[in-house]
Amino acid sequence: MSELYCFEPQPRVSVPIIGSDQRFPVHRIFCVGRNYHAHAAEMGVTVDKSTAQPFYFNKHPSAIVETGSTLAYPPETANYHYEMELVVALGSGGFRLGAEQADELMLGYAAGLDMTRRDLQQRAKDSAHPWDLGKDFEQAAVIGPIRRKAETGLIQTGTISLSVNGDVRQQSSLDLMIWTVAELIADLSRYYVLMPGDLIYTGTPEGVGPVTLGDQLSGSIEGVGEISCTIGDARVSAHKERP
Ligand code: MN
Repeated sequence: MSELYCFEPQPRVSVPIIGSDQRFPVHRIFCVGRNYHAHAAEMGVTVDKSTAQPFYFNKHPSAIVETGSTLAYPPETANYHYEMELVVALGSGGFRLGAEQADELMLGYAAGLDMTRRDLQQRAKDSAHPWDLGKDFEQAAVIGPIRRKAETGLIQTGTISLSVNGDVRQQSSLDLMIWTVAELIADLSRYYVLMPGDLIYTGTPEGVGPVTLGDQLSGSIEGVGEISCTIGDARVSAHKERP
């Protein structure tokens, strides 16, 4: 017997899997705050792994948008940034795992963009407020199709890059992550019961910057895949979304 709802629920958010008719149903989105030294430095911070712990923020699954999309320039920002990231897709869950157990949770990998309203994030930082307004908004989590780990093997190194209108803005190597993917999964599993369907955006390398109307973003992660999107007009009409 199906549930009765007072209006039609929003559809399940999912991501295509390369070489499969099955899609990956998204449960949660975790994002890692600072995971490359050179990016931490450009944000004015140094990270000492011997004393620091990774930190996280979340995006709602409804923020997912597939590669190839046009992103509406988001409201209430004048400094809309790209952050190119490796995304890890969990196919099974776990709690209080060791890093040596973490690899088993991964179903695969995707290229992702953690789109950010940098001015709102900075305002939040300055006020010691949560980052949600800067990070969690419509179309803020761009993702390419998931490539299965069975096909790629463990992704621990390789080039990650992002171009805007053909000019390379970010180029780094996955082995420069401060915390490895396995360490991130193990650490997250201290705080959450990880579940199949969870996505982890593993942090961006240096070179983040603003985009404007008409910009074409194109990213690549060696061994994983490509991602692209276009920056479109802002939504202008003030209207009520129908339920
Ligand atoms: Mn990020």
